[in-house]
Parts: sequence; structure tokens; C-alpha cells
Amino acid sequence: MFGNIKQKVGQTGRDALQKTKNLVEENRINGLISEKESAEAILLRELGGAYYDKYSSSPSEIMEPEFAKLVQEISTVKAEIQIHKGQINKIRNIVICDACGIELPYDSLFCRKCGQKIVKSEIADEAAVLDAYGSRHWSVASSIQFNPRL
Ligand SMILES: [Zn+2]
Repeated sequence: MFGNIKQKVGQTGRDALQKTKNLVEENRINGLISEKESAEAILLRELGGAYYDKYSSSPSEIMEPEFAKLVQEISTVKAEIQIHKGQINKIRNIVICDACGIELPYDSLFCRKCGQKIVKSEIADEAAVLDAYGSRHWSVASSIQFNPRL
């Protein structure tokens, strides 16, 4: 009878040990899955970036329609990011040199470092930027709030 109990305790111990080992192994494999998923996400992003770089300045007719739409949406978002950066620069009363990237006082006419003529992003320019990058995607473009005081 005692032998039987001893056997059962032994079995329970082995089961617990096996469960722990399984858990450790499961965590290890989950770690591998996470690593691979991160790598996959980075590669997909690189693939998208490479495709965008290759085709964003090409006529949309040479792309398959579903790609052309995505490329145009990315261009619109990029243009919007530029507009928002310009808005922040206006709030901070600075302008960034297109050529060398340094910060200058907002009323600068030329870059004091590289001599580049400074072109400010005014409201009219913001509209031009959106036109250039495809304001045809009006649902995204029209969601931008232009504040003339900025
Ligand atoms: Zn400069």
C-alpha cells in the first residue's frame, strides 16, 4: 500500500516536471515565432519601401491597380507628414534648410550654413504639395485641417 502511494507521488512529480519542461519549451518556441514574425514584418516593410521607391514616380498605368492605389495613398500620407512638419516648424518659428537640414530662424531668406535659398511652406504651398502628391485621394487629403494662423 505504501509502495503504491510512493509510486503515485513519484508519478505526480514526474508529471509536474514534464509540464514545466513543456512550458519552458513552449516559451522558447514562442520566442522563435516572435523573432520570425518581427523579421517578416521588417522584410514586408522593406519590400513595400523598395516597391514604392521604384514606382512612386512612375505613371500609375504601369502598376497593377491595387498597387497603384497603395502607392498613391503612401504618397498622400508622406505629403501630409511634410505639411505637419511645416506646421510644427511654424509654431516653433523655424524653417529647415532643404539642402543641408539645419534649423534656421523662420524669416531666413538663405541658409547661413550652405547658402541655399529658403522656400517656406505657406498655405498655398501646402495645397501645391498635396496636388503634387495626388490630392485625388481626397478622403485622406480633405481630412487635413488647414489653420491659416499657423
Ligand atoms: Zn543649408
